[in-house]
Amino acid sequence: MSPSSSSSSEIQLIGDRLAVDYANASHTPSELSWHRLIHFLEAAKIISPDRSTQLLVLPESDPRTAEALLRKARRLCASARLLFSAIVRKQRIAAEWIEPINEILRVTEGPDELVQEAGVWRIEFIAREGGLDWLLAAVARSAAEIVAEGTAARLRVCANPGCGLFFYDESRTRRRRWCSMAVCGNRSKVAAFARKHASARRAAV
Ligand SMILES: [Zn+2]
Repeated sequence: MSPSSSSSSEIQLIGDRLAVDYANASHTPSELSWHRLIHFLEAAKIISPDRSTQLLVLPESDPRTAEALLRKARRLCASARLLFSAIVRKQRIAAEWIEPINEILRVTEGPDELVQEAGVWRIEFIAREGGLDWLLAAVARSAAEIVAEGTAARLRVCANPGCGLFFYDESRTRRRRWCSMAVCGNRSKVAAFARKHASARRAAV
């Protein structure tokens, strides 16, 4: 996947953390369209396919609500990308990058409650308000957790300089280098092989 085509491409969940996948879903905030946002929420299982179908037509039925949420979603995306770039480079985090996260946490953080579903008790987050901000709550929470981990966060950027995807290194060896072995890992191996092959051929001449 080339990063420039990410707006039209499928949502890829390779980041190992919700907020990391969210940051990867759009390389620029303007790339985050309403459709992409809703598809992300569905792919990340924050909303059901039914809810996704309902939400996809919201810009027609209630453009103001959709616009307000999209604006917050884009701010959250920009903030996550700034924060994650700084964490990966071990740079200082500016307080204003945190604000879009806190803004969502402030209105959405509700208590957890035990909820029974099909005979099983689960702990479920109960949103404090009825608006749509809760759709971004889990992403904001996930981003907040990564920021709070500070330098201990195993956040990385793909070793392919042309890729730019972030991931959280949950590998056993803690040496994951690629967003995906199948994409960037393999490409790099192929390039290394070609280089080796070329120099071997040069040496033989
Ligand atoms: Zn990559």
